Parts: sequence; C-alpha cells; structure tokens
Amino acid sequence: NFVVQAQKKSLKGSMPFKAPCTTLMGSALLPTAIDTTQGRNVANNDLIWENGDVILVKFMDDVGSQSLRNMIMQYAKSWEQYANITFKFVPDNTPVTNIRIKLGSRDDNLGHNSQLGIACNNVPQYLQTLNLDTSDFIDYKAYVEQFKKGGPFLEYLKRKGTNFNNYTYGDLYRDVVAFKDPNIKWNYSSMRGTTEHEFGHALGLLHEQSYPNGIKWNKDTVYKYYAKYQGWNKAKVDFNVLEASDIFYTNGTSYDPLSIMHYPVYAWQTLDGFTVGSNTEISEGDKKLIAALYPKDKKISDLAVPKIQITNIDYGEIKTDNVKKGLLIYPSFDIQTSALLGTVYFVARLTTEDGMYYIPTTNENYSWNKMAATYVKMRLMPSTNTSFNKNGKKNLELFFPFKDMPDLKGQKVKIEFSVYQDDVVNNRYQKLTFNFLSSPVTVPGK
Ligand SMILES: [Zn+2]
Repeated sequence: NFVVQAQKKSLKGSMPFKAPCTTLMGSALLPTAIDTTQGRNVANNDLIWENGDVILVKFMDDVGSQSLRNMIMQYAKSWEQYANITFKFVPDNTPVTNIRIKLGSRDDNLGHNSQLGIACNNVPQYLQTLNLDTSDFIDYKAYVEQFKKGGPFLEYLKRKGTNFNNYTYGDLYRDVVAFKDPNIKWNYSSMRGTTEHEFGHALGLLHEQSYPNGIKWNKDTVYKYYAKYQGWNKAKVDFNVLEASDIFYTNGTSYDPLSIMHYPVYAWQTLDGFTVGSNTEISEGDKKLIAALYPKDKKISDLAVPKIQITNIDYGEIKTDNVKKGLLIYPSFDIQTSALLGTVYFVARLTTEDGMYYIPTTNENYSWNKMAATYVKMRLMPSTNTSFNKNGKKNLELFFPFKDMPDLKGQKVKIEFSVYQDDVVNNRYQKLTFNFLSSPVTVPGK
C-alpha cells in the first residue's frame, strides 16, 4: 500500500516519558533536611509492618487479564525472598484487605504510586492504596515496528481510518492503548521495575534520591519537567523530589544509586551530569535494607520502633479543684501498641485563650520545653489496647497546681493535650497526636 508507506514516514515527535512515581512522601520528609556525611538507604521506620505480617492484597474492579495479574503478583512477591513478609493475594471481592491495586492507564492519569507501609490501613476499603499505570508496561517498540513494517496494529490503524499526516509518537502510544491487543506485547523489565518499586513503598521504603546532598539537582530544569509532565508546582516538586528525608530514617546502609527505589535521574536534571538509570531490579542494597527491616532470623527487627496509635480522643473532663488548688485534667482516648514496649508522655500544655501560643514558664517541674505544662510518663505494654478515662472510669489524671503556673492574673487559658513517644534509641521525642485543644478555662489569680 503505497499511500500508507508514504505516510508512515511522518511519525513525529519523540517517545513519551514513562510517568514518574508520584508516591507522596508526606510526614516522612521534613522541610529542613540535616546534612549527613554518612551514606544510607531510606525507609520510614514508623510505617513498617510488624515483622512476619501476612499482608492481604487484591486487585480492584475486575481490571487486568489473568496473565498480567500473574506477572504483577510475581514481581510484588519478589520482596518475599529477602523480607519476612507475605503478600497474600486474595479475590477481588474480598471485603477487607491491606493493599488494593488499581490497574490504570494513560487515560485515567493516576500514574504509579502507593501508600507508605501501614498507612495503607488508613485508606477506606473502597479506595485503592496502590496505582499502576499499565500503559507504561507496554512494549511500544514492538508497535513502532508494526507501524513501520506492517502487522495487526497497522491494520487496526488503517481500519479506523487513521490520518497518518503529522502522526506522532504520542498518537501512536494512545492508539496502542486503545487497540487493546489480545496478544499484547509487554515490556517486562518496566513492569517488574515499577511493580517492585511501588511494593517497596508499600513495605515502607522511601525514595532513594532523598539522600541528603546525594544529588546536585539542577532545580530549574527539574521544576520545568514536573510542571510540564505532572502539573506540579514548585512546592510539590520540592516536597516530593528535591527534599532530603529526615536524618532519622538512616538505616546504616550506604547510598545506593542502583536501588529500585531510586528515580531515574537524567544528566540535564543535575548540575554535574550525574545520572541514574531506570532501575528495574531489587539491588543488593535494597535486599540488605528490607532484610534488616523484616528479618527472617529474628522475631523483631533491630530497626523497629515502637508504634503507638491513639484514637477516639477528647477531653473527658477538666476540673478546677479548690481543695487541691490546681487543675485536674482527664483526657479521654484509646491507645494501641505494637510488638515493642514504648514509653510515652501524656502532656497537657497551657495556651493563650485563642489557642495560638504556649505560655513560657521558669518553673522546672511543670514545663515541657520551657512552656507551662504538666505531664505523666508511662510505659506501655506491647501489643495491647487500653482505654483511658472512658465509660466513666478515671484511670489517667494530669494535675497542674496553680502555684506552679505562671502568674496568669485570672486570665482564661486553654489546655492542649499531646502524646509524645520517647524514642530512646534514636534520641528524639516523636509527637503522636495533633494539637487537641480544650475549651477555655479560667485560672484563679495568685
Ligand atoms: Zn516512588
């Protein structure tokens, strides 16, 4: 067919990029990165599953052929070789699962991303926790070949009356997706790399390029790239691509450009021409890190941190006690602990009446970081659920004597309740609750 031969020469433009991973790093990354000279891999230790967990996984909405699903399952399960964890794939109609995979395409533009670790459990059951854009798993080179040399794909294009004038790679990519080839040609290394990467996030791994000062980004070109292909603004690029992670997530292994968790980095994105390829296999560094987080030879990982969850929080009661001469505070909440014993501080801080400012104090006993506060320290037993000040039971009391408060001259204050976990190993307090403010309380003058 001479006409088509002539028109085929007009395949214009360039091959589209594969969508970048858009997993949101959330609170795992802090805005102020701390420099470290020590290399490391990155994982969010607060979000790792319990060692040995069987994680239930399903595909959503009846999407994806069995052969495609089989490949994805196989790649996801490749982590099991190195981690003491099981991805148990269950039927689509299973009502409650931990991980839910949505197989999307270029059309729905959901990209590739996953919830981090046990954050999967916070997602409602009707929503996915992990997106894979299967358009990026197609072997487009095979279809470019058919376009040039003939084959079922070219026949399909001719059948639907495709205009080959100014036909671009972008058009071809879209038509390949629309073709729905029953003998679809997959790019298995892209499928494996992406699936392993997203399931790495699902196990709590962060992006390897978050290594502080590991990459000398050419920020300007990076901003332009993400603005063009993702519609991301500068702040979002800063947060998801350029920010280094909190130093806390150091796990002792060295920075690994071969990590499956590393974005590809192009020379034009860096100031010194540094590049990282599209990694499509779990690296030796990845194997070491995941084995340290989920060890097969011990019950609890050395990298595990106590994980405490607080729910159903409110103020049971706040009383001014004129006999004891102080405030009695009875916060009400449920607390759940993981396999490690944890020490927590229940902290009640005074704030101004508008709740905007803590109140400085010189009192050394009734202070939290030099702000007027009272607190109780408590060791919590592993793997337990405890309710405090629920159902008429008073089992946690915070007392703040008036004489130990700053002189408030009869002003109204609010009480902000927080729970901090004492992470002794990593020498930090981790705040477990958001600010929770009481109604205003009047403090008598001295
Ligand atoms: Zn990612």
